[in-house]
Amino acid sequence: MEYEAVIGLETHVQLKTNSKMFTSVAYKFAEAPNTLTDPVVWALPGVLPVLNYSAIRKTIELGLMLGCEIPEITKWDRKNYFYPDSPKNYQLSQYDQPLCLGGGVEIEMEGANGSEMGAHRIVKLTRIHLEEDVGKLTHCAHDSLVDYNRAGTPLMEIVSEPDMHSADEVFAYLTSLKNTISFAGLSDCDMEKGQMRCDVNVSLRPKGSDKLGVKVEMKNINSTSNVRNCINYEIKRQKECLETGTPIVQETRRWDAVLGITQSMRNKEDAHDYRYFPEPDLMPVKISKELLDSIKANLIEMPFDRQRRYMSDYSLPYSVTSVMCHDRQLCEYFEKSLKAYDKNPKATANMLVNDLLRELSASSDEETQDDLVSSFDADAEKPVENKRRLDDSCLLTPENLAGLVKIIDDGAISKQIAKEVFVEMFNTGKTAEAIVEEKGLKQNSDSNELEAFCQAAIDANPKAVGEYKAGNEKAINALIGPVMKASKGKANPGMLLGILKKLIK
Ligand code: ADP
Ligand code: MG
Repeated sequence: MEYEAVIGLETHVQLKTNSKMFTSVAYKFAEAPNTLTDPVVWALPGVLPVLNYSAIRKTIELGLMLGCEIPEITKWDRKNYFYPDSPKNYQLSQYDQPLCLGGGVEIEMEGANGSEMGAHRIVKLTRIHLEEDVGKLTHCAHDSLVDYNRAGTPLMEIVSEPDMHSADEVFAYLTSLKNTISFAGLSDCDMEKGQMRCDVNVSLRPKGSDKLGVKVEMKNINSTSNVRNCINYEIKRQKECLETGTPIVQETRRWDAVLGITQSMRNKEDAHDYRYFPEPDLMPVKISKELLDSIKANLIEMPFDRQRRYMSDYSLPYSVTSVMCHDRQLCEYFEKSLKAYDKNPKATANMLVNDLLRELSASSDEETQDDLVSSFDADAEKPVENKRRLDDSCLLTPENLAGLVKIIDDGAISKQIAKEVFVEMFNTGKTAEAIVEEKGLKQNSDSNELEAFCQAAIDANPKAVGEYKAGNEKAINALIGPVMKASKGKANPGMLLGILKKLIK
């Protein structure tokens, strides 16, 4: 029998807001334990929650980007349970009237190559609701430690329909969600910092059947590669159960990243076990048409739409746009560069994804060592890397980068020299013209001098010249390297071939 996997995700994303969901204290990653708390977070008797308007606005923003319906009334409910990660013994969440309903996430499937996009489809969403995060427990040999810093942080829960069928689709879903949310500036979605976490629900059914099988929920997965491993493990495990007639029970299983297996945690509780009831200290919220209109008016372009636009308007290949369109800073940088000089978008984009990213990464390798010490996440159990991203600390401005593209196009410097100029611009923030002037790098278009270099190359390479004369057109390329070397990279490559051919003739 052939089986089909059915997968649905519950993805939690911490919102980037100045304060927590129901109180004014701030949340930050990797602060000393229990320092970002206040009486509301401790749930001292008599405290009252106050809604974070910005968190509501941001959740609606995501909902509108993903095509969700935003009902007119939304409300908060208590999800009751007893566990030390919440001193209240309930979590403030949303039950039957969430902020967003329906909608979907566009994902890219296989088939992409260097120049074209792969196949796309929409993964359906059930809902997005807003709730508060809970504290973090660290289990030691004899004790457990609790840190309430994270408790009360605004958390969106994005619930998908059981609409995915492989680990690859789930990976594409998480990537797309992360790109959309981080592009909009709603969260950085860094899984290793716990900003994005997901519970993965997997079931199997006979291929061709449209009935859902018994699902198993998996928790404790804190990286995208673990999501992949966990799903593949669970599909295999369930298939073995079905083949040997072992019943699959509805349960929650814990992913053990070290052993690479899932283990039973508890039988899955149903919604009624939580005794959800409306939060008596918060009024339901009416979402006005004015609020929706003002959010709609400022929605960002979706990353895939932007990618399609870059590919069609600027003829950029997939390989370049797929790097650029994951990063809002890069896209904004690109567009600013084009404002300064728009004659060669391809060269501008290439310089961004090749040269700029290379230099940023090289400079981050030098800087991160000190930063690493302070950011240790007990959940992730490994240091969090601080890769340098494009930001205001970058000395090379978009306008200066445009200036470099322009002087290459004008033939003032060769592409080879441009590499050197680029690094200098990145390190000093100077303009391309200033560096070319200072270092005397202007391209050599003096034909007398170039002829001398070419003649020398011809004399030194009789074999290549002979092959060229015998009809092998490409053999002449062997002469370009020596000329470039002799001219210290300054020979104008556009003129070289002509001179070489003329001299050989
Ligand atoms: P629960 O009440 O147990 O949280 P829900 O119905 O709310 O269950 O679904 C939670 C998640 O599980 C959703 O993302 C949903 O798509 C997914 N899911 C539900 N049924 C199945 C199934 N049979 N197989 C795989 N995923 C499922
Ligand atoms: Mg659930």
